[in-house]
Amino acid sequence: MAKYTGPVCRMCRREGVKLFLKGTRCYTPKCAFERRDTPPGQHGRVRGKQSEYGAQLREKQKLRRIYGVLERQFALMYERAVRTKGITGDKLLAMLETRLDNIVYRAGFATSHAMARQMVNHGLVTLNGKKASIPSMSVKPGAVVGCRDKDNARNKIKAALAEFSDAYVPPEWLQVDKDQIKATLLRMPERADIKVPVNESLVVELYSK
Ligand code: SF4
Repeated sequence: MAKYTGPVCRMCRREGVKLFLKGTRCYTPKCAFERRDTPPGQHGRVRGKQSEYGAQLREKQKLRRIYGVLERQFALMYERAVRTKGITGDKLLAMLETRLDNIVYRAGFATSHAMARQMVNHGLVTLNGKKASIPSMSVKPGAVVGCRDKDNARNKIKAALAEFSDAYVPPEWLQVDKDQIKATLLRMPERADIKVPVNESLVVELYSK
């Protein structure tokens, strides 16, 4: 499966906002964005005024990067959001939030989206009691995400929960049982529940052209 393998902190500097892609490091003074928040590259500091298209493109890239979704997959999700009843931007965000890898991350079972995706790929996670190894799987309300009955799965998740203990609180729409290692999706998240720093209407404008 294709995945981005370039420098990660560079993406935060490019988007001008912390995207929290490197786990607990993002919450420490070692964060590259805390030390240098200018865009990367020789001319990063002196870029001119942003065009309307540029602003739309940046919002789309930011959203993709936060959830670690590649271009093609993101475009397919957008098409699905358009076909779904409701506000397209809100639907797109809800779809991204309820991807299996994102639920694993939001529950605190992994310290970053990348780690969550790897755990799902390696078959360490269950969905409604059955092994689930596709990160893009959609989790429905009432579904339970848990841990495979394997020592390495349990140890990895326990270590992530311990590392995240104070730094992270799961969202209201997700009920997390840390002892049993279970996360239940109580309901679909609304826009107000999703705290990502993105103006999704610019993304919709970009794709509507
Ligand atoms: Fe972004 Fe985290 Fe790197 Fe900071 S440490 S620049 S928040 S990925």
